[in-house]
Amino acid sequence: MLQPHQPLQDAAVPSQRIHPRDQAGPWHSEAVCRRDEAGLFFAPSKEPTAARLSREEAAKRVCARCPVMVECREHALLQPEPYGVWGGLTAAERRVVLARRRRREAELQRATRVAAAG
Ligand code: SF4
Repeated sequence: MLQPHQPLQDAAVPSQRIHPRDQAGPWHSEAVCRRDEAGLFFAPSKEPTAARLSREEAAKRVCARCPVMVECREHALLQPEPYGVWGGLTAAERRVVLARRRRREAELQRATRVAAAG
């Protein structure tokens, strides 16, 4: 299996070094990101905000043309992956999605309990 992303030597956190293409799964072979693009998807230590925003937008542009974006995003949400851009979402954006999902799940459970109580 191809493993296109080469981790950055100066990555701030060890778990940042695991890129989508380094995960085992049926969708990884179709990923358009490459190992040598790891610097685009994961923040180096002490990255200035403007540089981070610019890098994340560039990573998202790669994700936007990726045929397995949905699978990659779901993987990152389910793990959950704490760092980097996965499936076109930053870590902060994934936290928002997960919080929304948890709220929706809680509302559904509450509605189910109310309906069951009659
Ligand atoms: S969606 Fe983005 S991070 Fe995920 S495999 Fe595709 S290009 Fe890589």
